[in-house]
Amino acid sequence: MTTGGKLLTPILDAPGSAPDQGLFGLWNDELSEALRQFGLLPYRVRQLETALYRQKVTDIREVTTWPKDLRERVAAAGLLVGLPEIAETFRSVDGTERYLIAGNDGQTVETVWMPEGDGGEEGDSSSTPDAEPDTDASASAKKPWSRATICVSSQIGCAVNCQFCLTAKLGIIRNLTAGEIAGQVAAVLKRHHAEPGRDRINLVFMGMGEPFLNYDAFMAAVRLLAGPMEIPESRMTVSTSGIVPGILRFAQEKVRPKLAISLNAPNDLVREQIMPVTRKWSIAEVIDAVRQVPLRQRERITFEYVLLGGVNDQPEHADEVVKLVRRAQFPAKVNLIAWNPGPGVPFKMPGADDVARFQERLREQGVPAFVRKPRGRDIYAACGQLKKTTAAN
Ligand code: SAH
Ligand code: SF4
Repeated sequence: MTTGGKLLTPILDAPGSAPDQGLFGLWNDELSEALRQFGLLPYRVRQLETALYRQKVTDIREVTTWPKDLRERVAAAGLLVGLPEIAETFRSVDGTERYLIAGNDGQTVETVWMPEGDGGEEGDSSSTPDAEPDTDASASAKKPWSRATICVSSQIGCAVNCQFCLTAKLGIIRNLTAGEIAGQVAAVLKRHHAEPGRDRINLVFMGMGEPFLNYDAFMAAVRLLAGPMEIPESRMTVSTSGIVPGILRFAQEKVRPKLAISLNAPNDLVREQIMPVTRKWSIAEVIDAVRQVPLRQRERITFEYVLLGGVNDQPEHADEVVKLVRRAQFPAKVNLIAWNPGPGVPFKMPGADDVARFQERLREQGVPAFVRKPRGRDIYAACGQLKKTTAAN
């Protein structure tokens, strides 16, 4: 057995999730089943869905479309809504907010709100263009943002152990449930009075954890978000470190976010050093798996590339990335992210000129490349900085 196999054993037995304690997270048949003892007609279940996922009530007694006695009966039976609550907020000078959101067992997860996004969605022609008019201009005119991106966590901690990532330092604590994943979005939308359908909300599953190592809960959350929470899947992007079995399952999904692959290196040799997961699945194996994903019209695969000063940020690395993207033979773009520092993570930030040169080198060889703006670095909200840290406020 290779060391890679050994290293990854903990990944394969990621600890389970906390039991769901509330109705939030259930819809359709699951919700009917949970309420079976009350003999509800289907329209009553739909009213509850609207209350849970559109109005985002926190208490059954707030379901005003239900008669009072029904609300009382359900509440008296001890059924809770269980909408996750924001336990703590850190606000950046750039408007980004980082939240600690309490899970079912009191553990907190991290979620980030980025008004105006971080440029990560640039060049994504499959999402609706920015020029789309708001249906309710007067309401959005009052808001200090015209669109926003929410960065969502899928696990508490992460088992993948990328050497440059602060979340990796936690190890894997546990998986999140579907309700906890979608609940982060609900809690943040509620705080900002944002309404998908009226406001431009993008979701990126790029917070703590590896979504494809919590596959079922992650995809159940996606269906909830795209279903009763009404966020089009074309406005969602999931990022994976390259978990091949997960990518192959994802390829079979009818409703699915766009896909981003954390490439981060020009070849397997460098990648193995910074992402040990490469010993389990090489870059070529990841790319083969991605080829199985049937792309929507004008959809592109994103390769994310964290620039680590002196490690993977030189022109010869860019040239290798160009070859790699060409060999992939699917429509792709590269999102460059200058490494965000964190305590105890032994890397250097790339120089601004190296970042610009890297981008230019890709572009002049025909590879679309964008630089993601670091958002909320001062509050440890930027990529790879999520580690339940409260020291930064
Ligand atoms: N676990 C998934 C998704 C979360 S990480 C994944 O790795 O793809 C989201 C992105 O942040 C990944 O592309 C990752 O490479 C990047 N990242 C991790 N640590 C970083 C850091 N310190 N600075 C900048 N980007 C980082
Ligand atoms: Fe996990 Fe992603 Fe961080 Fe790697 S970069 S340790 S996969 S969260």
